[in-house]
Amino acid sequence: MSESATGDQGGSTGGTARTSGDAAQVAADAGDGTRAVRAGLPEPVKHEPTLPGPVFAAHFHLPGDPTGPYTYGRDENPTWTLLERAVGELEAPGRDDAETLVFASGMAATSAVLFSQLRAGDVCVLPDDGYQALPLVRAQLETYGIEVRTAPTRGDAQLDVLDGAKLLWIETPSNPGLDVCDIRRLADAAHARGALVAVDNTLATPLGQRPLELGADFAVASGTKQLTGHGDILLGYVVGRDAEAMASVRRWRKIAGAIPGPMEAWLAHRSIATLQLRVDRQGTTALAVAEALRARPEVTGLRYPGLPDDPAHKIAAQQMRRFGCVVSFTLPTRERADRFLDALRLVDDATSFGGVRSTAERRGRWGGDAVPEGFIRLSVGAEDPEDLMADVLRALDTSAA
Ligand SMILES: *Cc1c(COP(=O)(O)O)cnc(C)c1O
Repeated sequence: MSESATGDQGGSTGGTARTSGDAAQVAADAGDGTRAVRAGLPEPVKHEPTLPGPVFAAHFHLPGDPTGPYTYGRDENPTWTLLERAVGELEAPGRDDAETLVFASGMAATSAVLFSQLRAGDVCVLPDDGYQALPLVRAQLETYGIEVRTAPTRGDAQLDVLDGAKLLWIETPSNPGLDVCDIRRLADAAHARGALVAVDNTLATPLGQRPLELGADFAVASGTKQLTGHGDILLGYVVGRDAEAMASVRRWRKIAGAIPGPMEAWLAHRSIATLQLRVDRQGTTALAVAEALRARPEVTGLRYPGLPDDPAHKIAAQQMRRFGCVVSFTLPTRERADRFLDALRLVDDATSFGGVRSTAERRGRWGGDAVPEGFIRLSVGAEDPEDLMADVLRALDTSAA
């Protein structure tokens, strides 16, 4: 865990270690809290706010030759630029070869990578236990003549289906099963076969895991979850280190028009300032909740990558710096799971995860995920740990009857 630096919280004298240009970038080796609070901020300008407000513009004044940076609002927006710098500083600190693009949602970002990189006749490898919209993506890719193979996240099983692949899509930890695969090992094997590698980094957040440093070509994520953490916006991003590949992702964003509104982009940037506080608090409480659940006889299949005896812990500890806020487990029956969710007072029965307010749901209600009827995905929020633990344990007790 990183130490937060309290000595440099802003103020008119601004940050440390500037780079040239108009970005006030904090040193890549600064602590995560320091980088989060300053991520993407512009150079201080007298009488201007620290984080400039959202720029609402469909078009920009553009006399003469139509040159950038800002021409039309579907191509670029100054509020996105600052957010893209912020995400890039967290996903790829100190790398000048990385480029970041923000999108309207995680699925917009996911689709942008898959549909811009793959052509008819290509082979794409997806996880079979990943985000629930991936089967829909698969069906769409197949209508374009792209061959899709799947394998589980666990045991690096995607290795076995890589031959001839053009693109490998990894999701680790996987959602909702929380299996983990070895990004470095899979990326090396994929690169040896000439395939590009994308990692869905939604669950870990860039403070939990940095896929580009582990060999991936793209880090892709839903910013809807813990990155922004308040359950009030949808957002997505792609960070990539191959200029040509990123140019086609950018072109895809332009033709699909899957762009975030300036208000969402600004809210996201504002929320990133507290990312380190949230992930540390939520992760610490998630581990405590997982440990408390382990002691309960009615709980089976408990998973949290931060638990030392979790099947995923060994690889997770190698490649992750924080283990996330999602805990999954199974109660004996669907009815018991529903009673448990009903009995919770501090945990909302809702989908999604990563927010400051704890949520939980019976995942099987959606269909699609291969999970038992009593399977619960619990997203641990920023409540006081004692209050949350008491609520969860009380709900387990009262739902027993
Ligand atoms: C939520 C989620 C997505 C999709 O993100 P949206 O912002 O809902 O479009 C993709 N991958 C994972 C792992 C997710 O949890």
